[in-house]
Amino acid sequence: MLQVNERRYALPKAPTVVVCVDGCEPDYLAQAVAAGHMPWLKRTLAQGAGLVADCVVPSFTNPNNLSIVTGAPPSVHGICGNYLFDVASGTEVMMNDPKWLLAPTILAALAGAGKKVAVVTAKDKLRRLLGHGMAEGICFSSEKSDQATQEENGITGVNALVGMPVPDVYSAQLSEFVFAAGVKLMQRERPDIMYLSTTDYVQHKHAPGAPEANAFYAMMDSYLAQLDEAGCVIALTADHGMNSKVKMDGTPDVIYLQDWFDRKLGPAAARVILPITDPYVVHHGALGSFATVYLPPGVRASDLATDVQQIRGMETVLAREQAAQRFELPADRIGDLVCVSERFTVIGTSASRHDLSGLDAPLRSHGGVSEQKVPLVVNRPLRGVDSARRFRNFDAFDLALNHAQ
Ligand code: ZN
Ligand code: ZN
Repeated sequence: MLQVNERRYALPKAPTVVVCVDGCEPDYLAQAVAAGHMPWLKRTLAQGAGLVADCVVPSFTNPNNLSIVTGAPPSVHGICGNYLFDVASGTEVMMNDPKWLLAPTILAALAGAGKKVAVVTAKDKLRRLLGHGMAEGICFSSEKSDQATQEENGITGVNALVGMPVPDVYSAQLSEFVFAAGVKLMQRERPDIMYLSTTDYVQHKHAPGAPEANAFYAMMDSYLAQLDEAGCVIALTADHGMNSKVKMDGTPDVIYLQDWFDRKLGPAAARVILPITDPYVVHHGALGSFATVYLPPGVRASDLATDVQQIRGMETVLAREQAAQRFELPADRIGDLVCVSERFTVIGTSASRHDLSGLDAPLRSHGGVSEQKVPLVVNRPLRGVDSARRFRNFDAFDLALNHAQ
């Protein structure tokens, strides 16, 4: 038994694969299964376990990937968005650096216990966080697969192994590469534990049941079937769901929250932070359903919360401490207010600061409570689990290691 962040994990008997499918609203699976595109999943749902779990809010990529690999909420691991506002310097700081990670990962603990660990991510931004603390093992991204070295990534010649060139960062192939690499690694290296994490390029563009979405899930299904055939225990979950965020005319339905605060308190008196912002914003225009706001001295969060709550499309507005408690966030890394918008609405800063010209399809995004439902599928029956309890996506390692082998 290993103890990580106050949870205990049995060492794997069979090779174990935890898959995080970025932006996998459960309906993507339902539509693809119903249309006959996922024969492996259909079988697995009948013979294994098919649960719906809650992800972490903000329903963004990094907080949830880190929750899955630490088995803990952001209040424990510290990664609550892509960006953090450093009040001392007045600057927005990216939280990609492992120095922001406050808790050990299950992956590092397993590597430390002498288990062979492999991690493959689509985008390189997650790689260093996921691989943090792993003294041994393989850890690389599709995006920089051609730059993998023995020292940094524990592997070389990835493209030759996978039989694919480096995919474009905005493509379905970036995720396909993750699965293809997972199958090849399982054949050649036979890791005890593998973590595969994709990107939500397809999900930002295509709704559940769309031909492009079904093609993506059919591709995923065929690779998961191969891992299953190789004798792996597989736990599949998602970092967050995904919803359409548009008005009836198909344009994004945006609350420009910085503009609102500028009118209310004066220009730039408050600071609206969108933790979805990252260097790859073409597919969502940096618009998601979660924002955090730093207020100027003398302005009380509780006085403003009610007003912000009245904005059309706003779902929940909480002061720092309430938000930290409700969403299990590190209170010292969020603003004075946390604002979550509704199912069809996103939050922006100022209208002038969002370039929406890169959106070539009606906006789909995430970040809110409305994207909290995610699949949690295990390809074996679960033992000793009360299936009526609330599950989290960060129960994936617990189910795979403690209840499925
Ligand atoms: Zn994501
Ligand atoms: Zn996304």
